[in-house]
Amino acid sequence: MAAAAARAAASGPCGCVSPPHARCTCASTRPGSRVPPRPSMMSVPGPVGASSAGPSQAMRAPSSSSAAPSVGCSASPSHRRMLVISVFMPLTLPGRWRRVKQAHDGPRRAYWHQAGRGAQRGVAAMTEATRGSNRELAELLRDVATALRVKGADRFVVEAYERAAHAIARLGEPVRELWRRGHLTDIRGVGPSIAGHLDEWFRTGRCARFEEALAGVPDAVLELVQVPGIGPATALKLAAAGVEDIDDLARKVERGDLAKTGLSPALLRRIAQGLAELARRPDRMLLPVALAAAEPVLVHLRAAPAVQRAEIAGSIRRRCATAGNINIAVATVDGDAVVRHVRALPGAEGVTTFDAQALTGENERPGIGLLVGITLRLSGGQRVDILAGPPERFGALWQWFTGSPAHNAALMGRARARGLAVGPDGVRGPDRALLPTPEEEQVYALLDLPAPPPELRENWGELEAGASLPRLLTSEDVRGDCHTHTTWSDGRDSARAMVEAAVALGRAYLVITDHSYPNLDFAARARELAALQQSFPQIRLINGLEVNITIDGRLQVPDEVLATHQFCLASIHTGFRQPREVITRRLLAALAHPFINGIAHPTGRLLLQREGVDADWDAVFEACLRYDKFLEIDGPADRLDLPDYLVREAVRRGVKLVVDSDAHRTEELQNVLGAVDVARRGWAGPANVLNTLPFAEFVRQARVRGVG
Ligand SMILES: [Zn+2]
Ligand SMILES: [Zn+2]
Repeated sequence: MAAAAARAAASGPCGCVSPPHARCTCASTRPGSRVPPRPSMMSVPGPVGASSAGPSQAMRAPSSSSAAPSVGCSASPSHRRMLVISVFMPLTLPGRWRRVKQAHDGPRRAYWHQAGRGAQRGVAAMTEATRGSNRELAELLRDVATALRVKGADRFVVEAYERAAHAIARLGEPVRELWRRGHLTDIRGVGPSIAGHLDEWFRTGRCARFEEALAGVPDAVLELVQVPGIGPATALKLAAAGVEDIDDLARKVERGDLAKTGLSPALLRRIAQGLAELARRPDRMLLPVALAAAEPVLVHLRAAPAVQRAEIAGSIRRRCATAGNINIAVATVDGDAVVRHVRALPGAEGVTTFDAQALTGENERPGIGLLVGITLRLSGGQRVDILAGPPERFGALWQWFTGSPAHNAALMGRARARGLAVGPDGVRGPDRALLPTPEEEQVYALLDLPAPPPELRENWGELEAGASLPRLLTSEDVRGDCHTHTTWSDGRDSARAMVEAAVALGRAYLVITDHSYPNLDFAARARELAALQQSFPQIRLINGLEVNITIDGRLQVPDEVLATHQFCLASIHTGFRQPREVITRRLLAALAHPFINGIAHPTGRLLLQREGVDADWDAVFEACLRYDKFLEIDGPADRLDLPDYLVREAVRRGVKLVVDSDAHRTEELQNVLGAVDVARRGWAGPANVLNTLPFAEFVRQARVRGVG
């Protein structure tokens, strides 16, 4: 398996621009391959924990000559082999884990590492600069939850802390800001009690409740529960066996030390698997988190007199599901002034500059100081890379900084064939002179290409397609939403509120798909929806259901219940780690069921938390075509599921899709925008997506039942 994986990785660029990362969730596939391997099987890790003072991997030329050491997607064969091995060999975990910690924990773990082991575990010891970042707080709340669980606290209290931690980790705006405005309880998952504790913590720098919860719980336990499969009970056992932290655990597993401590072989195997999964986990942030962090930097840059233009680049601009860092391209004639301006950015830490000319492979020619590179870290821990170049070649710089390494490498190949060279400093003619490229379109035009939409710049065939690229889906194309929840199941808002919000968004139809709780009063719910339809003639309502596929492949409620609904989504909410054959059987059974219209969030992944199911997607696509069923692209930022690479394959095969919000509250109806991003990355146009159709046609093609 390792050899096959190594082959896949060596021949397939991961298509992800942003280092440092362990695994690229904006996974790519090569055109011509059938169903692409899952992302974790094909990407090559970058140098996790790369020095903050140097250019990042993304910035380096894919095949630059001797200038910059190539890594990641562009690594030399031997280097690549080494990197590949390190992903698949859990043996290398300790070093990697340490590097991950240095790279992205920095301040994050400060609250226990700085405070040392023992009294007042860092709650009061965070530095002012790092205190109160979302990541930090989420970590703290998660530790409080773990500590409470260890102490046998009430399950509901523990879960409340876990929910709050989860919510804050995913928040697009700084929690400190919400606190300042008195809006902490606006965060879904933060109730009044935890909001009160957070308020105390923000005001005084400590919180008696948190300290009480954490007191007496070993540090090791709090850290070890981060390993998938290790719960508090196991963590306590390990701590009792002398394990100090994750590094130590990995070392001891590797050396077989734990076998002597009486832990069962099955448990040790599970721990080894958990460590391997942890090692594969990406050091990345969700797209909305990246966008929110990037926004103030962009505003700050654009306010500088020396900055003529500043634009987001990299994986954020390509709308990858997650981003490793924030890339910004700047046009200026005064690089030093830009550097001075960046140093004045509030909250910026560790601002360093480097000679970005080294990225171009042209630095053997003295006197071409055309580019300035700046890296910095925001107080929330995010890394920002800025490349600044002259306005007359800004197009080349922005293009370079946006395209995935694979896209840029393919572009270089095309350029070479025409006697040209493309790089971040511009496009060079046969005489090595730089050609004017103030706009990106001019870069592509020199290669006889239209500029592909940024989402497509992955080398998934966009250059070969040239002028015949499809028209991609836009949010204006979307007429209805097929996946929404209300207070009838686990939504926060009433059906009426959801309908009003959908009307305000201009939706022509709305499918309300509460969960299939077996004790739900389906008849009463249907009556309410019928009454709402009377009150809101401007929108068509569909009485739908989101039905659990049980672990043994049945549906959670009997057919008689399904029959009373006009539209049923089937989804997997449990048993995610079942073997491929079992998962595939579950999905195929649901697709074959006459009352099921399509599959919601098909892989069940939770970005940065849980890998999706392992299924035979070939078989799933075939079943969709055979039974005329659709697959959903679920829009919440931590799902974005189907993933882009499977969307690409579904589109290629003509499998129908829908783009949905999976909203559990009115504001979340906007989640459809995330699904549209994924659809675009997967090359989907309006013709591939059922809920772009007018209502009557949607009813026909999505096979909605009982519409008069
Ligand atoms: Zn669901
Ligand atoms: Zn749902």
